[in-house]
Amino acid sequence: MINNKAKIAIVGGGVAGASTALYLGQLGLNVTLFEKESSLVCGPPFCHLHAGGNLYREISDQQCVKLLKQSIDFLHFYPFVVDYRPTVIVLPTSDSSTPEALLPRLELLKDEYESLITADPNNKVLGESSNYYTLYDREQIEFLKQQPVVSKPQTCDEWMIPVAKNIDLDKVQFPLIMVQEYGLNLFRLAAGASLALEQIESITLRTKTIVSNIQEECNADGWGITYIKDDETHQENFDYLINAAGFRSGKIDDLLGVPCKRMVEFKAAYVSKWEEYDDTLFPEIIFHGERGTPRGMGQFTPYPGGYFQLHGMTKEITLYEDGLVSNTALSCQPQLGQNFIEKIERSWTEEETDQRTKSAIKHLSQFIPAFFHAEVGSKPLFGAQQIPAMIPHCV
Ligand SMILES: Cc1cc2nc3c(=O)[nH]c(=O)nc-3n(C[C@H](O)[C@H](O)[C@H](O)COP(=O)(O)OP(=O)(O)OC[C@H]3O[C@@H](n4cnc5c(N)ncnc54)[C@H](O)[C@@H]3O)c2cc1C
Repeated sequence: MINNKAKIAIVGGGVAGASTALYLGQLGLNVTLFEKESSLVCGPPFCHLHAGGNLYREISDQQCVKLLKQSIDFLHFYPFVVDYRPTVIVLPTSDSSTPEALLPRLELLKDEYESLITADPNNKVLGESSNYYTLYDREQIEFLKQQPVVSKPQTCDEWMIPVAKNIDLDKVQFPLIMVQEYGLNLFRLAAGASLALEQIESITLRTKTIVSNIQEECNADGWGITYIKDDETHQENFDYLINAAGFRSGKIDDLLGVPCKRMVEFKAAYVSKWEEYDDTLFPEIIFHGERGTPRGMGQFTPYPGGYFQLHGMTKEITLYEDGLVSNTALSCQPQLGQNFIEKIERSWTEEETDQRTKSAIKHLSQFIPAFFHAEVGSKPLFGAQQIPAMIPHCV
């Protein structure tokens, strides 16, 4: 049990650090959040709430169930951050698997969701459990293709109409699967978490502040944190330390000399503009495929105003040659190549933005032919990701 006079330091104000600070602050605990940038949640992007892990065929059933439970907790904590629109899972005819192969997992997830609702009715945040997933055969899709688009879709069928009208039905396997995995709105989360944190008295926000050193103060019973703000160096002691430094978490581990095994991956998503569809609400559409091959999974994520965020799990689009690195015995911090660090800390060339966004448009237009006319909409969304680590109080 932590007493509420104990001082807790969190290093890193991304979604992990900001949410932890908010949770602990709401319990009345004394938290200081250190973030080197001028605002919170400005690291790698996110657009999808993995409420069942249906984007990842390669992960285990157990991991999918865990993702379902974590997403339900997330929705309780941040109901305003979710864009309530479903996801359509599509298997191309070129895929080596079939939609039927996904059904046992979907049934498992539906049953898990139902038992979570039975245990606590407040867990019903993804709609009715019987609707967790819905199958559409070709006949149903051909019927929906003839229906007018609905401006504010409510039912699964209404959401499916723009999909039925726009995908090449000869290039996909049936049934199509609609699942209740929603959109995550990064911008609302960043704004909402920052506003909420500023209101909590027991929280000290230190933005534009770099944690430069940490020493385990076992005799003094805590952690000595050295930080730099406005070119001045300060030192403060804390009872607890949470490492939420994202892909730089290994650097904090190095300061503490703790053993670790970490991986970091650089990835990017691209922003396109599809003028003809600036007032149509689409669900997210996933075209499954083998990661790292030219047929890598395609992800088509709608935003308002005709903007679509695109992933293609190929090395020409989302993934990069040498973009996935592990740490070594010498350091907990996996070393990304300088070209990736340049992108993260500075910028992209217009040429690469153009080239990769156009490759992404081409990748998705294999299945959505009219999308070929989409254009580059904005700068890419990108970053390096890593699982944050929690360091227990020294013993
Ligand atoms: C292209 C892409 C798409 C993605 N899409 C999704 C998605 O759809 N759904 C999903 O769930 N996830 C997605 N992810 C993963 C998701 O972005 C990350 O898991 C998540 O943002 C990690 O958050 P974090 O708080 O752990 O780390 P970060 O957001 O990296 O935050 C760490 C913070 O620590 C700060 N920091 C580091 N060192 C110090 C220091 N010494 N002193 C002070 N501050 C420091 C950094 O400035 C940073 O703000 C995606 C990732 C990428 C790259």
